[in-house]
Amino acid sequence: MFYLVEEFFSIQGEGKYAGTPSYFLRTGGCNLSCGGFGTPYSINGSIKYGCDTYFAVDRSFSNSWQKIESADIFISHLKTKFDTIGYLPHVVITGGEPLLYVADEVFYAVFSWLIDIGTNVTFETNGVIEINFDKFPLYRKAIFALSIKLSNSGEPASKRINIDAIKKIINNSQESFFKFTLNKEIIGSSALNEISDLVSILPAKKIYCMPVGESRSALEKNDKTVFAFCMKHGFNYSDRLHIRIFDTTQGV
Ligand code: SF4
Repeated sequence: MFYLVEEFFSIQGEGKYAGTPSYFLRTGGCNLSCGGFGTPYSINGSIKYGCDTYFAVDRSFSNSWQKIESADIFISHLKTKFDTIGYLPHVVITGGEPLLYVADEVFYAVFSWLIDIGTNVTFETNGVIEINFDKFPLYRKAIFALSIKLSNSGEPASKRINIDAIKKIINNSQESFFKFTLNKEIIGSSALNEISDLVSILPAKKIYCMPVGESRSALEKNDKTVFAFCMKHGFNYSDRLHIRIFDTTQGV
């Protein structure tokens, strides 16, 4: 069984595949709780702070999450969705943290079907949870957007960095890349050191940096600083197209 928070057809807004028509599956639950990203939300009358997908992280929202208990039923539902689209879109499995379900039977069955029909599947993951590639070999065929969290997430390094898990993903998957979410504050302090320390002990992969921001106005506070940081250090800039185009309203 896995929790599905939402599913929708849109265009990938971030990272290496920005601009690609993609079908998104957002799973519920996360092993981190990144209050440092500072997106305010209200729950039971009190204000809390989280990331831009707090509704997929905070289990107070789990009443609205859908339990997926049958792979067959969900696969036939996806077939209908893809038929309506008219072609096989890239599939992005995001969260929360989708790898919470890495060993779940229903989750693996759905993922395996996606690979079997020839879909490109990207996992957007924080890279903390280890994957057993011998037991679940089809994960080798996935693309991993390694969105490793830095100190601006507010989480301690011991919780947000698992070098062994990241190395396993890089060494076993067909494709992976790093995606760091930065704001002005961390760029002015420790961003370069934190990124350099990490990548110096990991196999070389492309690095994308994108601005923190859950709305167009929040993005605009950080985008130029991230842009200049990328130019200075030879990293790839990633915008957040969906926020840039649709702001806080839900797009297509
Ligand atoms: S790891 Fe990602 S989804 Fe989980 S709390 Fe942090 S930013 Fe949000």
